[in-house]
Amino acid sequence: MRGFGYIRVSTEEQAQDDRYSISTQTNKIKSHFKKNGIVLVDTFIDDVSGKGTAKRDEFQEMLKRLDEVDLVAVTEVDRYARNMLDSLNTVDQIIKRGKSFIAIEDNLEITATSSENDELNFHVKSMFAHYFSKQLARKVKNNMLEKASKGGYNTKAPLGYNLAEKKLVVNENEATIVKKIFDYYLQNMGIRAIAEELNRLGYRSKPTKNFPAGAPFQAFPVRKILKNRVYIGITSWGGIIKKDTHEPIISEELFNEVQKRIERKGEMGGRAQSSDFLLSGILKCGHCGQSMVGNKNKGRYSKTKDRAPIYRRYICNNYQKNGGCSFVWGHCADVEKTVLDYIESEVPREEASKYLNQTPMAFDPEKLKKERDSIRHALEEEMPTRYDRQIQLYEKGRIDDEKLDIAFSRLKKEEEDLKKKLQELESKLTLTPEALEEMRKARLATFYSVFDKDDIAQRKAWVQNNIKEIRYFDIDTIEVISYI
Ligand SMILES: [Zn+2]
Repeated sequence: MRGFGYIRVSTEEQAQDDRYSISTQTNKIKSHFKKNGIVLVDTFIDDVSGKGTAKRDEFQEMLKRLDEVDLVAVTEVDRYARNMLDSLNTVDQIIKRGKSFIAIEDNLEITATSSENDELNFHVKSMFAHYFSKQLARKVKNNMLEKASKGGYNTKAPLGYNLAEKKLVVNENEATIVKKIFDYYLQNMGIRAIAEELNRLGYRSKPTKNFPAGAPFQAFPVRKILKNRVYIGITSWGGIIKKDTHEPIISEELFNEVQKRIERKGEMGGRAQSSDFLLSGILKCGHCGQSMVGNKNKGRYSKTKDRAPIYRRYICNNYQKNGGCSFVWGHCADVEKTVLDYIESEVPREEASKYLNQTPMAFDPEKLKKERDSIRHALEEEMPTRYDRQIQLYEKGRIDDEKLDIAFSRLKKEEEDLKKKLQELESKLTLTPEALEEMRKARLATFYSVFDKDDIAQRKAWVQNNIKEIRYFDIDTIEVISYI
C-alpha cells in the first residue's frame, strides 16, 4: 500500500500549540504508515486559514498525482477541512477515484469500496458529516478549555477590556463605565435606571458589527456585567476557573456586596425597580392624598432611533390600583421639572452662595413636637409613678434606707436628663419664623451642589432628605412641603 500525507497548518495555531505544528503532524502520519506497512510517497503541506479547497495549491497538486497512491491520510478531520461541505467534496474527489481517506487521530477510514453505489455513498457522507460535526464541536471545546486553563480568554473581550494575544488588558475608558455600573447599583439604582443613565450620559456599550459606535445600554447586559467575575480578575469557561489571569477592575469586596444585593433584590421581585424615580415615596396625589407611583412603559427598540423610547409617568396609586380616584398622572419629566423649578425659585442660585458656609441643620418640626410630647409625658406621668413604686417597696420593708436613696438618685438623674432634653427641644421649636426660614433656605441651598452633578443616585438622596411631601394636582399646581 502506498499513501500521501496531507497536512494543514495555520501560523496562528502553530504559534499557540505545538500539536498543530508541521513536524508533529508529519510524525503522526509517518508512524501510522510505518505501523500499517504503508509507504509514504509524498507529503503535501498547505498553509491555510479560512481558504476554500480550490485555493489550496498543494491539495490540488496532490489530486493531480493521486494515481500514484492507494490512500490519503490526514491526522485529524478538522485539520483537513474547516467546513463540512468542503470536506465532503474533497473526500468525494478522493474516493471517486478509487482511493481511501484516513483520519488517523479520529480512527476514521473511508474506503473506495464503500462508495460503490450511490446509496452507500450517501451513507458514507452522512456518517462522515455526523462524525465531523460531533468531533469538531468536541475539539473546539477542548481547545477552549485548554486555553481557559492557561488563563487565556476564549470569547470576545467584555466591556472594560481589550484582547491582546488572548489576554485581557484593561481599556481605561470602558473600565470607567464598568465602575459606574457597580457604583450606581450600590447606590440603589435599578439595572434599567443604570442603563438609562449611562445612555443619557452619552456612554455606549462595546462596539459590535451591527453597532460600530456601540449600541445604547439595555438592562439585561448591565445585569450580566454586574454578575461577571471577569471584573475581579477571574476567567471561567466550561467549569474551569482561573484566578488572577488579568488585572481586575472591581475589588472583590465591592463585587461581593453587589452579588448580595442582587440576591436580595431577586427575593423582592421587580418592585425595587421603581426606586429610580426621583420623587417616589414623597409624591402624593393632591386629590385623594395617596402616593403617586413611578410607572414605565417601554416602547419598541428600533435601529433608526438612538434608543428605545420609554414613557415614564407618575400615576396616582389609588387610581391605578382600584380606580378610587379621578385619573391623575403626570409625565415624569414634567412633574420633576416643576418640583426642581420650585426649589430653584425658593433659593435662587445667587442667594444660595450666602448659605454655603452654614451647616444646614436637619430637623423636622413634626418629629421634634412628637419627641417633646413624649418627654413631657415621661416627666408628668411616668416619673411620679416610678417614685411611688420605690416608696411602696420601702413601706413594705422590701428595701432599706440605703437602697431607697440609690433608687431615688438614679431616678433624679434620669429626670434631669429629660428636663434638659425638653429645654433643648422647646428652644428649637420656639425659633422665630425668620430663623426657621433661614434654616430652611440654608438646607435648600445645598440643592445646587448636588444637582449640578449628573449623579442620579445623589440627586434622589437629596430630594428624599430635604423634601417631606409634594402634593400634585396638575402640572401647574403642586404643593411642596420641605423639611423646615
Ligand atoms: Zn388620587
